[in-house]
Amino acid sequence: MSEHAPTIFDLAPLTLEMGQSRTFDLSLFLPPIHLAGQDYVFMPETVPARLTLTYVGEGYTARMDFSCRLEGACWRCLEPADLDLDVSAGDYFETVLPPIEEMTEEEEPSLWFLEDGTLNLSEWAHSAVAELLPPQILCSPECKGLCPQCGANLNFEECGCQPPVDDRWEKLKEWKDR
Ligand SMILES: [Zn+2]
Ligand SMILES: [Zn+2]
Repeated sequence: MSEHAPTIFDLAPLTLEMGQSRTFDLSLFLPPIHLAGQDYVFMPETVPARLTLTYVGEGYTARMDFSCRLEGACWRCLEPADLDLDVSAGDYFETVLPPIEEMTEEEEPSLWFLEDGTLNLSEWAHSAVAELLPPQILCSPECKGLCPQCGANLNFEECGCQPPVDDRWEKLKEWKDR
């Protein structure tokens, strides 16, 4: 199996009674996330995860917990930034599905519950991480970013550029000074 293959979990061999749960400790592959034109990679790409499945009749409730670190460029200065996340995702997978044309919107199968009765845990993890992301990924909350005029990294140097003058105010001052 390729190192970069998504982590697939087969529900078929599970023989759970109604209401019964089982917990699995597994290795979860986390594919890179594409955000704001940049690729963010997980370090490491494979993390330990705990999956708990409970059989509830026509499907399973599932919980998946894992911790991960995402690395990529700071949105303000493009220097390396990282983000540690503790993910706890919950979902319900219906294994007995009505014909697709009779489905209501809520009944539509999850994107990570596949037709062959397997769960694509990597896909599910990806979506759970996406929900936890802050609005911006920064090298530090105080990142000063790049100078909009010369591109200097203002965390490391002061470039001395003057902020552009808004000449509407200059005109107003001239008028007031008259
Ligand atoms: Zn930064
Ligand atoms: Zn500058």
